[in-house]
Amino acid sequence: MKFQFSKSLDGFSSSAVRDILKLTQGKSIISFAGGLPAEELFPLDAVSEAFQRVMAQGKSALQYGLTEGYIPLRQSIANWMGEKGIQVSIDQMLLTTGSQQAIDLLTRIYIDPGDVILVEEPTYLAAIQVFQSRGAKIVSVSGDKDGLDPDDLKAKINEHHPKMIYVIPTFSNPTGKVWSLERRQSVLNICREAEVLILEDDPYGEIKFGDTETYPSIFALSGQAEGSCVVYTSTFSKTVAPALRTGWVVGDPELIRNMSRMKQAADLHSSTLDQQTLHQLMEHFDLNQHIRTIRAHYEERMRLMADLLTERNWPGVTWIEPKGGMFFWVELPEGIRAEELLPKAVEQGVAFVPGYPFYAGNAKHNTMRLNYTHSDRESLIEGMNRLDRAIQSVLPVR
Ligand code: PMP
Repeated sequence: MKFQFSKSLDGFSSSAVRDILKLTQGKSIISFAGGLPAEELFPLDAVSEAFQRVMAQGKSALQYGLTEGYIPLRQSIANWMGEKGIQVSIDQMLLTTGSQQAIDLLTRIYIDPGDVILVEEPTYLAAIQVFQSRGAKIVSVSGDKDGLDPDDLKAKINEHHPKMIYVIPTFSNPTGKVWSLERRQSVLNICREAEVLILEDDPYGEIKFGDTETYPSIFALSGQAEGSCVVYTSTFSKTVAPALRTGWVVGDPELIRNMSRMKQAADLHSSTLDQQTLHQLMEHFDLNQHIRTIRAHYEERMRLMADLLTERNWPGVTWIEPKGGMFFWVELPEGIRAEELLPKAVEQGVAFVPGYPFYAGNAKHNTMRLNYTHSDRESLIEGMNRLDRAIQSVLPVR
């Protein structure tokens, strides 16, 4: 049969991360590639206990549920967000199959083929895939270490009349960068004035190092959900476990209602079992304490990787120490292409993600993303030794 695929596949590339993970399967490779949490830190006993509680409640856990999501879990999340200064009610919230689905649903209800979406440079590659599959025109806005450049944002809005901007202001994937308060406020002001919808993706906000600084979400800065130009999404994937596939999205009820209608078509609702388990977990487990434990371990791993990078002192190689999240973003000397370094690294027994797929426009090929959360101390040290051998083979002789 000659298949006649839809145009949604045009220009739609498969995820480089998945391709790399395939490459490493079955080999004893140390992977700095995926954005995976540390398995040894999963709250296995607490999840198991929560699951037992759900099962003990009876048959409803195995039944169909509401598209909008399990009400008690929505209430627990609303309370939890309230403790962090974000006031939302449950009718301003939709539970999703991971925050990935929130990106997809909002794109489906808001973007027509040809519409412009502004993104950071670089940005999360699976969001680029969603936008591409919808036929959006993706335009990058430049930025610096403090966040998006407000002047470039204004210029791009004037030139392209975008409908939406997609941002990860707190410990971004892939760069680990966190925006300053001032930038958050000015991006909000500019988009509010121009009536450009902001999709704020915040999977990593809780993974922050150091006790002092807090980073208010753009959504919180926008005031109340009703009438807000910001749609905010987060997830349990990094704080509890990605396998529970539960995220949430909050925003103006009109947007949430329409996303919910679209979700009916996508999957009716997210897993009842997973949502009820998470609800029991939130009620009977100290999630904030668990998050503090994860932060401490991840900070230790980040510091180790920072020390190892500093020790190596590869000429012309730069990075910024992340204040949270899961990644180092490393720039290699001009002219070195990370995708050509990758096979050499895999040969040495270590993997990473080359930076180019994270760019919607002109890619910087001399960039790569290193994950530090999945590897323990020994693997981090050995992985960096292996990466060293690969990098030494491509660096100009000193
Ligand atoms: N947004 C960003 C920036 C991410 O890094 C991820 C996970 N890699 C997601 C969204 C999706 O996470 P999930 O669907 O597991 O909630």
